[in-house]
Amino acid sequence: MPSDESYFGALERVIEHVVAPGAGEVDATGGFPRGQVDALAAAGLLALTVPADFGGAGAGLREAATVVRELGAVCGSTAMIVTMHYAATAALAAAGAKDPLTEIAAGRHLSTLAFSESGSRSHFWAPLGTAVDDGDDSVRLDASKSWVTSAGQADSYVWSSLPLAAPGPMTLWLVPSGADGLTVAGAFDGLGLRGNASAPMTAAGVRVPRGAMIGDDGAGLDLAMAAVLPVFLICSAAMSAGLLRRLAEETAAHLQRTHLRHLGQSLAQQVQPRAQLARLRIEADRTWALVEQTLDAVETGRADAQLLVLEVKAAAAEAAADAADLALRACGGSAFRKESPVERLFRDSRAARVMAPTTEALHDFIGRALCGLPLLGDVT
Ligand SMILES: Cc1cc2nc3c(=O)[nH]c(=O)nc-3n(C[C@H](O)[C@H](O)[C@H](O)COP(=O)(O)OP(=O)(O)OC[C@H]3O[C@@H](n4cnc5c(N)ncnc54)[C@H](O)[C@@H]3O)c2cc1C
Repeated sequence: MPSDESYFGALERVIEHVVAPGAGEVDATGGFPRGQVDALAAAGLLALTVPADFGGAGAGLREAATVVRELGAVCGSTAMIVTMHYAATAALAAAGAKDPLTEIAAGRHLSTLAFSESGSRSHFWAPLGTAVDDGDDSVRLDASKSWVTSAGQADSYVWSSLPLAAPGPMTLWLVPSGADGLTVAGAFDGLGLRGNASAPMTAAGVRVPRGAMIGDDGAGLDLAMAAVLPVFLICSAAMSAGLLRRLAEETAAHLQRTHLRHLGQSLAQQVQPRAQLARLRIEADRTWALVEQTLDAVETGRADAQLLVLEVKAAAAEAAADAADLALRACGGSAFRKESPVERLFRDSRAARVMAPTTEALHDFIGRALCGLPLLGDVT
């Protein structure tokens, strides 16, 4: 594991010199933050969670969550891209996929998840895309993916399909970016996270070698639930925690610098905005505390680890959306205009709750877990 200095210091430098200065433009243009991603790769931060055996830093989920929290405070698009990269890396690490892991470790490779489909929508556990034996050790993939972060920008896609031959709901594949028949099927023009390139993608007769299978045929959902989901859920929550912290900072700064001249007072001297700021800060601290609690539970193998992993994104996503509303109230009309960073944070804050598993799906999973029912009903 890298020392705090080696990864956190590098992260702070990339944020200060590249990510923070570019965040406004990424949002305004919707352009993919290529320079930001390249700088993170060059600083070893895309290799952070690659096991040391494959040349990576061998860091864990706590370091990944910290990186995403810090990015989430300055550029939601970059934080989203890195979240999906860490989630994809977790699948590759669980399967010991040497070639892509070695490339990621060398800072030459960005990956992402291509799970959600046009047919089954947010129900990522039920892919409809197919994998068919094409002879000569080749497999043909066909699918319509509805959202893929870093679409057309990533070097590879951790791709879900129906199994090739085995029973089970899902098989995972590593699909390289240049594969024939793989296309980005539209532009991404979103409310928030505008530079994360979450566009639809289509596979029409994409051929991959059988060795591109990640894990076993039919075992993709187990791998996704055990290895990918904890990384995605905790990093998504950490991203919301970063956004919440920034909302509190921006709101405090606005209240202090904004004056009601006729009263000779600042907004900070008004009781309501001050109380709204207090509630914002409570949500920010509460959210990060839950992320840390979840990390503790996962790292020590506590019995409540799975429950906390399911809770943490639902709690953080809803806290971020509610707190962004509060920040908009506390800062008033000023935050309704693009002159305030709160306006962008408000738009970015809407994404986490609709990302699968959505808040509604997580509430159902948590209720099922508490009632001793299988998380996915009859799917598994
Ligand atoms: C910024 C962004 C980036 C993304 N990046 C990726 C990515 O990299 N890879 C990827 O695979 N996907 C990605 N997604 C897709 C995401 O994970 C979801 O699949 C997608 O947002 C779901 O949208 P939808 O319109 O298909 O939802 P729908 O499935 O149509 O759901 C609409 C609403 O109905 C609710 N709902 C649906 N079914 C039920 C049910 N059974 N019970 C209760 N409520 C239900 C949902 O919670 C939701 O609120 C991304 C999404 C966003 C917003």
